[in-house]
Amino acid sequence: MKFISTRDSREKLSFSEALFRGLAPDGGLYQFENIPKISDFFSSLEKGAPFRELSVQLLQRLLENEEDAAAAEDIIGSAFHFSPELKHIDKSITVLELFHGPSCAFKDFGASFLAAAMDRILRQRGQKAIILTATSGDTGSAVAQAFHGRDAIEVVILYPSGRVSPLQEKQLTTLGGNVTALEIKGNFDDCQRMAKAAFTNPGLRHLPLSSANSINLGRLLPQSFYYVWAWSQMRDIEDMAFIVPSGNFGNLTAGLYAASWGMPINRFAAAVNANDVVPEYLRTGNYIPKPSIATLSNAMDVGDPSNFERLNCLYDKNVEIFRRHIEAWSVDDKTTRDVIREVYLKYGYVLCPHTAVGWKAAELYRARHPGVHTLILSTAHPGKFVETVEEAIGVKPQLPEALAMLLNKEKSSTILNNTNDALAQFLLERFD
Ligand SMILES: *Cc1c(COP(=O)(O)O)cnc(C)c1O
Repeated sequence: MKFISTRDSREKLSFSEALFRGLAPDGGLYQFENIPKISDFFSSLEKGAPFRELSVQLLQRLLENEEDAAAAEDIIGSAFHFSPELKHIDKSITVLELFHGPSCAFKDFGASFLAAAMDRILRQRGQKAIILTATSGDTGSAVAQAFHGRDAIEVVILYPSGRVSPLQEKQLTTLGGNVTALEIKGNFDDCQRMAKAAFTNPGLRHLPLSSANSINLGRLLPQSFYYVWAWSQMRDIEDMAFIVPSGNFGNLTAGLYAASWGMPINRFAAAVNANDVVPEYLRTGNYIPKPSIATLSNAMDVGDPSNFERLNCLYDKNVEIFRRHIEAWSVDDKTTRDVIREVYLKYGYVLCPHTAVGWKAAELYRARHPGVHTLILSTAHPGKFVETVEEAIGVKPQLPEALAMLLNKEKSSTILNNTNDALAQFLLERFD
């Protein structure tokens, strides 16, 4: 299987090449050259296969005829020390919990897989890499955790000083070892600009810098695995829809990819907060990016979703085709809070704000399509959003154990000015 850019299809890359490139030189995102048609995989899949086993089989099938296929077992075994879980809440509602990984958010699936795959390739080649990434809080911790302890890779994380939550800061600064946290005297935009400048700085070209952005194919692909797993666990249910809390639309794209390969579910809904470019596109046919708006479900505050480019390729930039595959709802902050409270009172189940947006969209979905079972993807542990959840339900949600442990650990960061030169100098002193 080969991979091409969403913009220029002439250059064909292997899976491992696409992983290390991240973004294509033409600015595009990597995608399958041809959609793998593997309906027989789905029909012959044993019901209820464990997540890791299923992932190995699916990955081998997807990468067929490539040397990487042999590595599937290795990579999956090293990546996933955690699994998705299904919680059946009601006769028409199931929650797919994706927050049982090290940073308690679904991004652990993508980050862990990418880290395991890169580490394996580098060790085989006897090479090293330096992962450079800027974070506004949440995504950086999944990346830091995923790469922590992998010998072939150094990780450098830039975060804005004083602008991430205390818990997020602990997640970034207490790992040590091959993870270096750079505390930048500036804001998130400074961090992003500095990281970007390092990649194009000729004075750093001899360093093996690489990125682990959310647009990396190696983060997208493993997200398809839990859709297929959830479908295989629940395939006795006649009519089912995936409801996906969405920001950059990577999570939803992974599900739509699985459907394009032949997974026999064709009902998907995007649940977004006030950042409603995609529902507006489906409604009007015009895609109009907007500046992002701050909401309670802040990991979804995206005004121009990066994966829309992949969806445009999948659906020929044709809004009619989009409408056949996706429905979308925008949910405001007040409703998000109300839903967290109502669901807690009715079911004793605590939702994070992102999952609450999904829950509301699922309600709207069932109203439009009576009788359809809704499977809501839960993207983060509610304990990560203490203030919002406590305000909604009047009780402090429990912090997951993996995070509670961090609170007693010592922070260790390197403070840096917000200039491109400061970062370049740091990298040269540290790694040259
Ligand atoms: C990143 C994130 C999302 C949005 O996922 P996309 O793939 O960007 O659509 C939703 N919820 C949480 C908790 C996240 O961290």
